[in-house]
Amino acid sequence: MNRSDSQIMESLLKKAGWTRVDRPEEADVLILNTCNVKKPTEQRMLHRAKVLSEYGPLIAAGCMAKSQPELLRPYSKVLMAPRSIDSIVEAAFLALEGKEGEFLEWKRLDKASYDRDPANLIGIVPIAEGCLGSCTYCITKLARGGLTSFPKESIIDRIWDFLNRGVVEIWLTAEDTGVYGWDIGTDLPDLLDGITSLKGEFRIRVGMMTPNSALRIADRLLDSFESPKLYKFFHLPVQSGSNRILRLMGRDYTVEEFISLVKRIREWYEDSTISTDIIVGFPGETEDDFHRTLKLLEEIEPDVVNLSRFGPRPKTKAASLPQLPASVIKRRSKVAMELIEEIKERRNERFLGRDLVVLASEITPKGTQGRTPSYKPVALGQVEPGYFYEVIIEGFKGNYLLGRVVRRLGRAGLNFNVQVEECPSR
Ligand code: SF4
Repeated sequence: MNRSDSQIMESLLKKAGWTRVDRPEEADVLILNTCNVKKPTEQRMLHRAKVLSEYGPLIAAGCMAKSQPELLRPYSKVLMAPRSIDSIVEAAFLALEGKEGEFLEWKRLDKASYDRDPANLIGIVPIAEGCLGSCTYCITKLARGGLTSFPKESIIDRIWDFLNRGVVEIWLTAEDTGVYGWDIGTDLPDLLDGITSLKGEFRIRVGMMTPNSALRIADRLLDSFESPKLYKFFHLPVQSGSNRILRLMGRDYTVEEFISLVKRIREWYEDSTISTDIIVGFPGETEDDFHRTLKLLEEIEPDVVNLSRFGPRPKTKAASLPQLPASVIKRRSKVAMELIEEIKERRNERFLGRDLVVLASEITPKGTQGRTPSYKPVALGQVEPGYFYEVIIEGFKGNYLLGRVVRRLGRAGLNFNVQVEECPSR
């Protein structure tokens, strides 16, 4: 979401005549788009703000500017909240003139509608901002607020524009994609059906959805996911294997409901990638609660687990609860990580020797990276990105499968040689 916000700001500035430079010493104005979801990120942001402010006037944008402006004011006279990024040009001129300004309003911007250059083969398309949750540990809510879904037409137009610019993979993003449309009389399956009816050989990754919102739309969601254009990738952050802790976290589902959702997805498509998030050491988490989390991981064998050690975020309810000792959190995190690594290996082994169609969508420092139909990353070596390849999986390393390319199958996305066409949704 933040990367998409940065692209929108860059595009607005470019239209107003500003140019992006590569090094801070060349800049008239510096912009830091902050994230403060966890304490270590917050510290990194403050360090960056300090360093960048030494090169010239700094605009501090992003979630931290909204939820912790007091930390950024020593380094920046101009602050800008995520829901006010349409003011970036005004902010840039204020900063240039050495003046003060705070753009911290709650606006209902349609962020899908902003024209911008995706810059590579992947296009990030925000579909909504904010959420309907009230998780007691979450500082993001204080920055992004309640749900604002963007119009379906804007989203489809943006995707069509990206496809015409050579994009082959779309990332649909929101704080909770599962609640898309509930405020504007539509929902995620309806949006996905509209997107997958666009012509072209492209792929879509749907971003994180809370288990409770996914449960509410599960039947129609799985129908929509029948489209080969959708990666069979489900990011469902469960956070804990203990119902007691889920209640303390303000999460609106039970462990049993989460398990039934995952089982249903795997029964529908066995290779689906299940990605989840776990927080260990939430205030009040007992050894028994923690073991329930380990048991849950054993039972559902997620392909990807984003593990976090709990750290209180300021201005949240969980920050006022009695905290666990750091040594306990560290030990639990280590134990959980060992199990996660074991599970990852088991899941990856299932792919050995298989013959898969992989979309090469990214260039990394180590070569081209592709994605299987269930969004598993595959290292492809030095092949041209933007194409589908037939690949034999010969190994795995960390999170990656290692693929041997058998043959190139065809160009992904729209045909580059055709003229830019009108979007068929209009
Ligand atoms: S769903 Fe919960 S964790 Fe996610 S952004 Fe909303 S309040 Fe935060």
